[in-house]
Order: sequence, then structure tokens, then C-alpha cells
Amino acid sequence: MTKSRTLLLAALGAVAVFGAMTAFAQKEYKSGIVFPEPAVVTPGKSDHEPPSDAVVLFDGKDLSKWKGGEKWEIKDGYAVVKGGDITTKDSFGDYQLHVEFATPEVVKGSGQGRGNSGVFLANRYEVQVLDSFNNKTYFDGQCASLYKQTPPMVNACRKPGEWQSYDIIFTAPRFDEQSKEPKVLKPGYVTVIHNGVCVQNHFELLGNTSYDKPPAYEKHPLKQPIRLQNHGDLVKYRNIWLREIKPLEGKKPQ
Ligand code: MG
Repeated sequence: MTKSRTLLLAALGAVAVFGAMTAFAQKEYKSGIVFPEPAVVTPGKSDHEPPSDAVVLFDGKDLSKWKGGEKWEIKDGYAVVKGGDITTKDSFGDYQLHVEFATPEVVKGSGQGRGNSGVFLANRYEVQVLDSFNNKTYFDGQCASLYKQTPPMVNACRKPGEWQSYDIIFTAPRFDEQSKEPKVLKPGYVTVIHNGVCVQNHFELLGNTSYDKPPAYEKHPLKQPIRLQNHGDLVKYRNIWLREIKPLEGKKPQ
């Protein structure tokens, strides 16, 4: 063995020993919190399909899970707004909600009178549905606004007639059960992804969304239905599903 080769091997050996010592000296951090194992959820094969643990509210065939659903017209896998609002028969607390909608291809009206509908979280907090593609209105009333509370951060609308999606994360407000007046312990929060674009980021709700009144909370049970608005425009809906969500809680060490 040449002298240089011997030196090289010695150097490599020293590096290996140093590495092993360093690894030995490192101590893995552990929080000590004992978490349950997260449940396995199989995602949908595409963005349209519900994950395995979703509650499907409308699959394109019938609106049997909605009060008033018989009034809306169903064809070709979608439902068209007609004759009144529809409200889920079941109630939900905190959730992730997927909704697809299309405003009418034939453009009629302007401002709030064009492709108006809405997704009412907890039956009272409206995420506006509107044709806001080249259609100006007050900003806190345009598509994906929290109606009369805040505009979307950006306008991510597709053209009239094109399918669009909302992925909404809703945290319901918490009220003091004992108090007669609506005493808010924790406000509600809304995040909205519109066509894959984040347009509302954990927005703190100020209360009910109303046309003619300032926002104010009214006390309500945690679980409430979801409502879709009839505003007289032929807005279409399809692929509506939700997942109730809750944080995975671990046990902290004593
Ligand atoms: Mg509306």
C-alpha cells in the first residue's frame, strides 16, 4: 500500500468515527404527547370526487338530502336553482365543503343581478356566488366574498357557463350556552379556495351576513344545516360533498 493510500484510508476512517460519535450524541426530540393514529382516508381520484370519509350531499342524481330539493331541476348530473332556497336535512358543525357551480352561460343583468346565488354556512353566513367575470358590483358582494363583510382577496372567477369550485373550510362560532344574549366565546372562521386559488384565508366572521343590517351574531347550536340560495338566476350546482373535521387530540404527559 502506498503512503498516500494509507493516509487516505486513515482520513476516511477518522471521518466515519467522527460521524458515528456525532450521531450517538444527537438525541431525538419527542414531545411526549401520545397521539392516536390518524385515520386513513382515501382521496378521490380527481378534484371532483369525494374522499372516502365524505358525506355526499349531491351526486348529480337527486336532491333527497335537501329540504326544498324537489323544486330544483335536475338534469345531466347537475341541479338548477328554481323556486326557492334548498337546505340540507342534516346539520353540521366544523367542516370542509366542496361545491361546484356554474353561472348562466347566457349573460343577463348586471351587478348583483347576474348569476346570483350563495352558499350559506350554518344557514346564515353567505359565501357569495355571482358572475363576477367582467361584472362590477360592490367588492364585498362579488363572487367569493363573505357577503357585506369582506371581498375575496383576488377575483378567481371563470367565465359564465364554465364550472367553478369552492373548497370551503368552516369553523363554526362557539357561544356561551348559559348566556341568553349571544355571547361569542370564539368567532367563526372561513377559508375559501375558489378554482384552486385561496381567496379567503381564515377570515374571522363578524356575524350573520345580511343585505340590510350590519353583521351581528345570533346564538345558534354548533351544528346547523347548509343552505343554497335561490336569487332568481339559473345557477347550476353539482358535486357537493363535505367532511366534518376536528383536530386530532393527543394526551399530554403528566
Ligand atoms: Mg347571493
